[in-house]
Amino acid sequence: MKPVAQIISKRALAVDASGIRKVFDLAARMKDPINLSIGLPDFDVPDIAKRAAADAIMSGQNRYTQTQGIAPLRERLRKDLSAEIGRDVGEVLITSGVSGGLFLAILSVIDPGDEAIFLDPYFVMYKHLLTLAGGKSVPVDSYPDFRFHADRVEKAITPKTKLLMLNSPSNPTGVTMTEAEVRSAVELAKKHDLLLLSDEIYEPFMYDRAGCPSPAKLYEKTLLLRGFSKSHAMTGWRLGYAVGPDEVIGQMTKLQQYTFVCAPSPLQHAALKALDTSMDDHVAAYRKKRDYVHNRLSAKFEITKPEGAFYIFPKAPRGMTATEFCTKAIENNVLIIPGSVFSERDTHFRISYATTDEKLAQGCDVLLSLA
Ligand code: PMP
Repeated sequence: MKPVAQIISKRALAVDASGIRKVFDLAARMKDPINLSIGLPDFDVPDIAKRAAADAIMSGQNRYTQTQGIAPLRERLRKDLSAEIGRDVGEVLITSGVSGGLFLAILSVIDPGDEAIFLDPYFVMYKHLLTLAGGKSVPVDSYPDFRFHADRVEKAITPKTKLLMLNSPSNPTGVTMTEAEVRSAVELAKKHDLLLLSDEIYEPFMYDRAGCPSPAKLYEKTLLLRGFSKSHAMTGWRLGYAVGPDEVIGQMTKLQQYTFVCAPSPLQHAALKALDTSMDDHVAAYRKKRDYVHNRLSAKFEITKPEGAFYIFPKAPRGMTATEFCTKAIENNVLIIPGSVFSERDTHFRISYATTDEKLAQGCDVLLSLA
């Protein structure tokens, strides 16, 4: 009999998740850490949405929905997005989180050998999903300011490039594209006939650039992905949505039919209610946390001021690698993530400030004492 390990596919083995696993292993050994590593809001789902979810379950909305999602949610999102983008955005596909949308998008457009460009540092999933699809990740270094440098991106384009992936505001840097940067990304995509994938999961958390247009406004070959995980603290509800060129959305819908089937039915009904709840107070609170952590850590760390999301990405001090610095922080009970998890470099570290003001203050005290 073959050992079970030999049954595992080359595809699965090609995905290297060792970086993040090391962090989890370290975290598991900590008792009541000051946890500045978590990529989700510290507020809870709005009550109105919780009640709507319970009502939906009790009233029997427990079956499969249409593959593309329930009509009232799709219609509402289509109306809102069309008003924002300035044209009819077409059919909306409700996905199982933005992760589900990314998975379906990459499987729908990437053939083995195709290349996809994104800025380094990047959201880790991009790399792993491209590996799964047999595609090639082409990270473009954006250090030290983490901005979109069109010249660097253009140099990375080859005849095999199909996809330019943008993530603004960014995980892990918090950097948010300016309107000029969005325009230059669109120009490049047009010139080289690329599909733009715009991951806008942190779009509600824009502190200095609210009103910066989505590239979807300027370029029809944009696949726009947004979700409820961060905006409404529903990471466990698995709800996202996609709009874009009909052909791509059509293929994604077909693949959803044979993978996720549909996003969770009762929660789609609740998400529709959540859209009428203002989250502005939470965003305002996060802006304050951003200012606090930036002001304090700037005293001793080299930092690009983040304009969105809830992350800040300082440079490890005194020539230390990020892994060395994070190990020190963890020894002092503060959990942060080394940049090597999100980057080809190991020089910076990610702090999530989505935590209580008290924990944030304690975390800053420790990090400053180690700098
Ligand atoms: N994109 C980015 C940039 C993210 O940070 C995350 C979550 N951390 C996702 C997509 C996926 O989020 P979800 O699947 O919960 O919608």
